[in-house]
Amino acid sequence: MLLGHPVSHSLSPVFQNAALRAAKIPLKYETLDVAPSELRSVLRELRESKAAGNVTIPHKTAVHASCDKVSDVADRVGAVNTFWFEAGELYCDNTDVAGFDAAVRALLGGDPVNARVVLLGSGGAAAAVLAAAESWQNARVAIVARNHEKARKLARRFRDVAGVETSLQKALAGATLVVNATPVGQHDDEEPVDVGMIEPTAAVFDLVYRRGGTPWVKSARKKGCRAADGLPMLLEQGALSFQRWFGIEPDREAMRQALL
Ligand code: NAP
Repeated sequence: MLLGHPVSHSLSPVFQNAALRAAKIPLKYETLDVAPSELRSVLRELRESKAAGNVTIPHKTAVHASCDKVSDVADRVGAVNTFWFEAGELYCDNTDVAGFDAAVRALLGGDPVNARVVLLGSGGAAAAVLAAAESWQNARVAIVARNHEKARKLARRFRDVAGVETSLQKALAGATLVVNATPVGQHDDEEPVDVGMIEPTAAVFDLVYRRGGTPWVKSARKKGCRAADGLPMLLEQGALSFQRWFGIEPDREAMRQALL
């Protein structure tokens, strides 16, 4: 199941149910709309029923705080997106980091070496991006966010790779990868950055996903940039969650086909 508020628009049930069918596992993946005030009692009920699932906005940090056993990567991010129960204990992980990492490698066609990253946003997904960038060889990340204090706090947590840049123009000069980790473009045709400001040699990665692609990715491709939206990351984080729950590889192609 997917815990969030609201979650009815999520694409996760579409590809998780395809993976369950392909693996002949007689379970159904469902969304559960949980208001923040209900989270503790819902987690108690889920413990009783030995449930497993994903966590999304706004519960990723609160569930992290409730975990009995948490992975190192989820601790690094300070947020979880995957949970399951074992012997009555709540286990948590964050597969967004590996999902983002895999999607960027696919976009670049290999290891991100000497990446000069511009990261738009300073929320939970931005922390997952920074946790991935920490594992890349010689990466530097300039965080550009509307809340400078929050951005500085995030940069301090990832001081080995990250700094804050208040001038978007300066940040974009020499960037090799521009990442949108804000929700801009999710519900309308707004673009997080005018692609006219981005070098055509830079790659563009939009964490936002929409069936048919996001407007920003379409504009970036028109300009000649390599660009990907958040769907490949969403699929990979979901596939990795499935692995945690069942101990087997899901059928990624069946998951991908379900979204077409
Ligand atoms: P979050 O924790 O709420 O953070 C959102 C960030 O975007 C904050 O820095 C926020 O600034 C900023 N922001 C919000 N609206 C903005 C605007 N109009 N202009 C400029 N900045 C704005 O959310 P999140 O969990 O990081 O998620 C961010 C996006 O990534 C969402 O669209 C989510 O669906 C997507 N996502 C995708 C995947 C995937 O698998 N593809 C995984 C995770 C997240 P303030 O702090 O000032 O509000």
